[in-house]
Amino acid sequence: MTQVRTPIESGVPDHFQYMHPLLKKNYGNWDWHDRPRPGVLHHVAIDGDEVWTVRAGTQRQMDVYTIRKLCDIADQYAEGYVRFTIRSNIEFMVSHHHMVQPLINKLMEEGFPIGGTGNSVSMIAHTQGFLHCDIPATDASGVVKSLMDELHQEFVKEEMPNRVRITTSCCQINCGGQGDISINIQHTKPPKINHDLVAGVCERPTVVARCPVAAIRPAMVNGKPSLEVDERKCICCGACYPPCPPMQINDPENSKLAIWVGGKNSNARSKPTFHKLVAAGIPNNPPRWPEAAAVVKKILKAYKENAHDYERMGEWVERIGWPRFFEITDLPFTKFHIDNWRGARATLNQSMHLRF
Ligand code: SF4
Ligand code: SF4
Repeated sequence: MTQVRTPIESGVPDHFQYMHPLLKKNYGNWDWHDRPRPGVLHHVAIDGDEVWTVRAGTQRQMDVYTIRKLCDIADQYAEGYVRFTIRSNIEFMVSHHHMVQPLINKLMEEGFPIGGTGNSVSMIAHTQGFLHCDIPATDASGVVKSLMDELHQEFVKEEMPNRVRITTSCCQINCGGQGDISINIQHTKPPKINHDLVAGVCERPTVVARCPVAAIRPAMVNGKPSLEVDERKCICCGACYPPCPPMQINDPENSKLAIWVGGKNSNARSKPTFHKLVAAGIPNNPPRWPEAAAVVKKILKAYKENAHDYERMGEWVERIGWPRFFEITDLPFTKFHIDNWRGARATLNQSMHLRF
C-alpha cells in the first residue's frame, strides 16, 4: 500500500477560521467604507451588512497578561474576534454601531490608544531584534515603543498630509522594509576578529564568499587557520558576522543609528521608492533613544507643515528637492550622504547622491 505523504505545513494557519462571521460572509463583497473617526473603520457590504472596526495601538512586545486582557475586552465589549495588523495594531470588529463607543472607552481606560488609521502616524513596523534574532545591533522594538510614546498625538489624530509609515531595522543587511521614515543600524567600524574561535566556529570559504566587496581573505594567525579583513575595502555592512560570530561587528560606540526618508512599498499615486539616507552617526542610545527621536520629530514637523494634502513623504521631497529638504529640516548634509563606494554606479538611484 502506498503511503501518502502529507505536506508539512509550517506557514500561518487558515485565517478564515478566526474571522468575524460578517467578514467571512461578505468576503469580497464590500460596497463602500468610511472612517467615522480616527481609529474606526466602517465597512458596508453589498447586501447591507455593516461592520465597525476599532483599531488600537499596543506596546508591541506583549506579555501574556496583556494578551489575556485584550482577549477579555474582545469577549466583553466586542464579539469575541480580534486581529493584529502587520504593524501590531489590534483590531476589534463589531456588527452594531452602539458597541463602538463602549469598546473605545474600555480600551482607553486600559491604556490602549485608538488611532493609526488614515493620515496618521501608524505603529512602527520593526524587525525582530534581541528577542528572536542572533545578529541584531539594537533593540528595534524598544525604539518603536519609545518613539511611539513621543508620537502618541500623531497616532490618535489624522493630521498628517498623508499616512506615515515608519520602520526600524536592527541590522543593515537582512529583514526590514521601506518606510516614509526608516531608522536603521549603521556599523561604522570593520569587524573585530577573535582568531582563537574562527577555526572551530566558521566555515571560512562561506565567510569569504559572503563579503560583497571581497575584503575577507583566509589567513594563518598564531599558527591557526583564521581570516583577515582588508579594512580599506570593508564597507562595515556586517554580512560576515551571521555566518562567523567571532567576526564581531556590533559595538556600543561605533554601531550607530541612521535615518532614511522617502521610501514606500505601495504603488498608489506614484511608484514604490527606496528610502534615502538623511542622518547618520546617531547614538544607539537605549532605553529611549532621544537623539533618534529628535531627528524623527524634526522631519515629521517639516513634512506636516510643508507637504501638500495627500503627498507622501517621498513625493514631497521629490517636489521640493533634496537641498530644500535639508534646509527645512535643518539637518546637516555630511560626507556620509555621499555613496563613494566604487560600485556606486549601480546604486545611483538608491542613495541621496550628488549628481554630476
Ligand atoms: S534586521 Fe537583521 S538583526 Fe534585525 S531581526 Fe532582521 S536579520 Fe535579525
Ligand atoms: S563587514 Fe561587510 S564588507 Fe566588511 S568584511 Fe564583513 S562582509 Fe566584508
